[in-house]
Amino acid sequence: MPRPIEALVHTGALAANLGRARAAAPDARVFAVVKADAYGHGIERAYEGLRGADGFALLDPAEAERVRALGWRGPVLLLEGVFEPRDLELCSRLGLWHVVHRAEQIDWLAAHKTQVPHRVFLKMNSGMNRLGFMPGAFRSAWARLSALPQVDEITLMTHFSDADGPRGIAHQVAAFEAATLDLPGERSLSNSAAALRHGLRSDWVRAGILLYGSAPDHPEHDIATWGLAPTMTLRTRLLATQDLQPGDTVGYASTYRTERPLRIGIAACGYADGYPRHAGTGTPVLVDGARCATVGRVSMDMLAIDLSAAPTAGPGAEVTLWGEGPGGSHLPIDEIAQAAGTIGYELMCALARRVPVRVVD
Ligand SMILES: *Cc1c(COP(=O)(O)O)cnc(C)c1O
Repeated sequence: MPRPIEALVHTGALAANLGRARAAAPDARVFAVVKADAYGHGIERAYEGLRGADGFALLDPAEAERVRALGWRGPVLLLEGVFEPRDLELCSRLGLWHVVHRAEQIDWLAAHKTQVPHRVFLKMNSGMNRLGFMPGAFRSAWARLSALPQVDEITLMTHFSDADGPRGIAHQVAAFEAATLDLPGERSLSNSAAALRHGLRSDWVRAGILLYGSAPDHPEHDIATWGLAPTMTLRTRLLATQDLQPGDTVGYASTYRTERPLRIGIAACGYADGYPRHAGTGTPVLVDGARCATVGRVSMDMLAIDLSAAPTAGPGAEVTLWGEGPGGSHLPIDEIAQAAGTIGYELMCALARRVPVRVVD
């Protein structure tokens, strides 16, 4: 028998969350952002749930090839554009759309021989200060691009730094609009947080995290607030239980010491499975659907659980680390992320290769 841990990818939840993205931006077309192997879900596994999107956005040319290999004929956007001139050949061959964020990418396009002109997304740095042309340089980049026979349509694009937080997006929207006012072409501005929190209108939404059932602005809001469903479950079983006496300690470095008699369960999941080692005592976990809490340090292959809320659970009991539990129970990945001082994005992307994954419904 294999080790009892497994991950589930929920096709129906992916499709429902995509519907939620459409509802948040009714007039827009929606890119399903599937970078980082569909936020750790696996592009091929997530495809069935997300094929109702208007396009796929990612940044690794090899992942773009995988989307095409699935038979997807619609838009595929390279979010960081091409990394070197010969990536343009792949764009021509597979009909990939690509972001242009710096001048050298325009030079490469100008030197590229292609039968079919490319659809490009010209990116402005409106304040994120990662990629893109400064507002003052945007218009001349647009003029250069639009003069190239290698270029078909130009979509105007920017990315927000604070769509999920108190600073918001107004300053970046203002910078973007001031510099693009009389430029033609479609616009692409929103990520998940901008679409959900700000209801921003643009032609193409780039929806990532919301598709995967994590709230972009947790803990201010949770997935229930936004009407999202978990798309990844990580579950395992108890391998053993221990009955501890007051003063006993649990796990490496004895970071947890009992004050009363305590029954604990040892679950077959550790940081080598992608469970965050920084999740301390008190991190929520479901045992047979009952909400319990971890105790002590997470080790490589195991973690310990206070079974006070699941007194009858023994070896073999079902343990839900995040996602859907038995009997309609569920545990949002955002709660574990918060306990570990990180975000849902990081946990789903870090699901380890040794964990077998099954696609359900
Ligand atoms: C990752 C990414 C997105 C999606 O962001 P979410 O917060 O996951 O919705 C959108 N646009 C760009 C440029 C990205 O890199």
